Amino acid sequence: MNSWLIKNASVLGRRNADIAITDGVITAVGEGLDAPEGAEILDASGLVALPGLVDLHTHLREPGREDAETVESGSRAAALGGYTAVCAMANTSPVADTAGVVEQVWRLGRDAGLVDVQPIGAVTVGLAGEQMAELGAMADSAAKVRIFSDDGFCVADPKMMRRALEYVKAFGGVIAQHAEEPRLTGGAQMHEGEYSARLGLAGWPAVAEEAIIARDCLLTGHVDSRLHVCHVSTAGSVEILRWAKSKGWRVTAEVCPHHLLLTDERAATYDPVNKVNPPLRTDADIEALRAGLAEGVIDAVATDHAPHAAEDKECEWAAARPGMLGLQTALSIVVKTMVEPGLLDWDGVAERMSRTPARIAGLEGHGLDPAPGVPANLTLIDPNASWTVVPNELASLSRNTPYSAMTFPATVRATFLRGEATVLDGKATK
Ligand SMILES: [Zn+2]
Repeated sequence: MNSWLIKNASVLGRRNADIAITDGVITAVGEGLDAPEGAEILDASGLVALPGLVDLHTHLREPGREDAETVESGSRAAALGGYTAVCAMANTSPVADTAGVVEQVWRLGRDAGLVDVQPIGAVTVGLAGEQMAELGAMADSAAKVRIFSDDGFCVADPKMMRRALEYVKAFGGVIAQHAEEPRLTGGAQMHEGEYSARLGLAGWPAVAEEAIIARDCLLTGHVDSRLHVCHVSTAGSVEILRWAKSKGWRVTAEVCPHHLLLTDERAATYDPVNKVNPPLRTDADIEALRAGLAEGVIDAVATDHAPHAAEDKECEWAAARPGMLGLQTALSIVVKTMVEPGLLDWDGVAERMSRTPARIAGLEGHGLDPAPGVPANLTLIDPNASWTVVPNELASLSRNTPYSAMTFPATVRATFLRGEATVLDGKATK
């Protein structure tokens, strides 16, 4: 069934209207619409309708760590979080550095049918930073890869970074950088600051991120290519991005929900659920990141959804893998940190979580406001509901959420992928 009449939704939080969908495509948006033939009717009174969310940064763990997540389980978490498309990071096992692996991930996503899974290709073979991967073959593959990233690792060699930036220009690609100067973060366990000194844990200084972002902005400007900066986490990074954009360089950036909400004080618990890379930073960083996101210096919110099996997370801090679940909590955290304080309205949420990420990723049919002729990729949100995070109730195969027992505003009531309901009444349909 992919014909619907969604009645009385608040479209982009602006005006109440019905949305008619026939065969997966929106046919009309307006008041008092008649139901298309054979359509199901959904009363959306009190719900906000946004274009389906798009995540630029998801770790789905398949192939290789299907105990932590699969393309299907991660896709289900995404749909429940209001997403209709996710970009799957390349640090799988084997690494997604060939046409074969990216096509495998793309097909698994298509078979799961819950969100569009757009594979990201590795920049270097095996993420090792030494030999460029076959970017052109991945771009030409069925997966049509446009974003390349060694995420998890930084493309630290400036010559390699320059070559990759130059190479992707041929097919309109973008290099997504995990900005971390490895010579400054050896053995790092958390943000370098007051708490790392007090706890006696090796620090990950802000300058290790900022130095790479500055370098890569300069390189991008020099070769006139496209750079996307992953998970910006410091106030200084926001300043550098503002400067790079003022030059007219083609630089975009994302921020993760956890960096908008949580601080390095969390490390005092010694609970590795709070270990993430880049690390949780300070209140001053949070303030600058929120302001940067409101202003548009930071273009998008991305989850860095990073599921880990219990043995990789429920251990001592130093041995734990970095990363947190993010797909099912992202929207609520953006509402809490950006909408409730008045920094973004619902249209702004659509801009930062759907339109702009879809544009950065080059995803056709996503990030489009409800209008006749547009594929029906939509999410319906109850802005007045709240929910409490129960790790066992999340759809991910992993449990590493730092938000256990926390209560957040806004729930996803329904998600539609090309008119097919992937979520109804807040539950996945498959
Ligand atoms: Zn990363």
